[in-house]
Amino acid sequence: MNYPDDTIAAISTPVGQGGIGIVRISGPLSILIADKIFRPKGKDRLQTAKSHTMVYGHITDPSNILSLIDEVLVSVMLAPHSYTKEDVVEINCHGGMVSVRKILEIILTQGARLAEPGEFTKRAFLNGRISLSQAEAVLDLIQAKTDEGMKIALQQLQGGLSDKLLQTKDMLIETAALAEAHIDFPEDDIEPETVCAMKNRLIKIKQDAEQLSNTFEEARFFREGLSVAIVGRTNVGKSSLLNALLKKNRSIVTDIPGTTRDLIEDYINIQGLPIRIIDTAGLRKTDETVEKEGIKRTIDAVGNADFVIAVFDGSEPAQDEDAALIEKISGKNAVLAVNKSDLPVHISNTFIAGQGKPYLFLSARTGDGIEELKKCIFESNTKNWREDRDGIVVTNLRHKLALDKMCTALGRAITALHENRPLEIFSIEIREALDSIGEIMGSVTSEDILNRIFSTFCIGK
Ligand code: GDP
Repeated sequence: MNYPDDTIAAISTPVGQGGIGIVRISGPLSILIADKIFRPKGKDRLQTAKSHTMVYGHITDPSNILSLIDEVLVSVMLAPHSYTKEDVVEINCHGGMVSVRKILEIILTQGARLAEPGEFTKRAFLNGRISLSQAEAVLDLIQAKTDEGMKIALQQLQGGLSDKLLQTKDMLIETAALAEAHIDFPEDDIEPETVCAMKNRLIKIKQDAEQLSNTFEEARFFREGLSVAIVGRTNVGKSSLLNALLKKNRSIVTDIPGTTRDLIEDYINIQGLPIRIIDTAGLRKTDETVEKEGIKRTIDAVGNADFVIAVFDGSEPAQDEDAALIEKISGKNAVLAVNKSDLPVHISNTFIAGQGKPYLFLSARTGDGIEELKKCIFESNTKNWREDRDGIVVTNLRHKLALDKMCTALGRAITALHENRPLEIFSIEIREALDSIGEIMGSVTSEDILNRIFSTFCIGK
């Protein structure tokens, strides 16, 4: 891979007006370039500034020495103690668009190149400061939608996953070394106890990796959110329930059946879990075309949802449509919400309790039971999450797929040992498992994959 030796620059703050804007420069010429356009207020020149200090002064255009561009504070971070491990200069200027753009333009005329999206982080990776999975965590951190998503990204950034994989890598190398010793000296027969120990160790490594891979699904909810569909026949109180969950009057509540003709979506956050709630048209046999389309969409929404809240009217006996609904959600992760608990109960308890799904009684009108419903949504979808929360979590599909590939290779290695096949075959499988770890960490990753990962970053990061 080409080691970058040029100097890059970009605006690191978001586009728009703000209190300050930051232009960042990284590379061997960064101090020199910044010095050419900076006029310090005091005696401190950037070239002689200590690392991790700030210098106050003005930016001028070298082609017109009299022109003052902005009043700035410039921070200097010398290699290797910077984000990229290169010399980094950050110019903090006033946060209008003209000022930051103008400063960037001048820097680019002085020998720096405009950074590509994510290039600062890419350099941090190429210069060995962070692993690829840590670089990806930077992106997760920027994109985190909730506190929980941020916590997970931060843990990964601090090297949680990388450390764990390094341990696994060491164990695999040790195991491989045992085998290689016997390949090199085939006259010494390998002890059955050694084979047994190798096998047990691999089984444990594989189990751990599988567990890690399984955290992906739950963590995905924290990153991307969970889609929850509210379904039920008309007038059971779906829209009222949505409003109660959102605590606002979002969808139209009326006594006329079929008012919610389309899907209505909104977001809530339950204990850090971002949830997209979809209120659907009532499930009702109808000849009206518009409503038919709504009902078709409802059925799709149930199919696509991660979780379903099936709503029933507790003040009436269960109807055929209620039974039909139960059938429609049979394979889904769902809760039965028996609404209108403020009214006398007429729905049969056996009907509700006999469906093998969690259920609760609530009133969208008074708010009774809404908190329990939220708790139920959270718990049904995060199962062991609370206990595992401090553990390491896989949040990235690329990592999960590489882990799965590693487990498959380990499975084949275990079989090879089990069937007393030549150790060379075992060795090849272990190498493949090690390559999968390398893929996650970035040590055996093609330029193509790197470019794909970093191009999803914003410019200036
Ligand atoms: P949807 O068709 O399932 O979306 O039902 P709506 O939310 O439009 O509600 C239908 C009717 O039931 C409205 O008159 C609501 O005021 C009423 N309703 C909804 N929830 C409750 C509740 O918890 N208690 C009572 N008493 N009425 C409710």
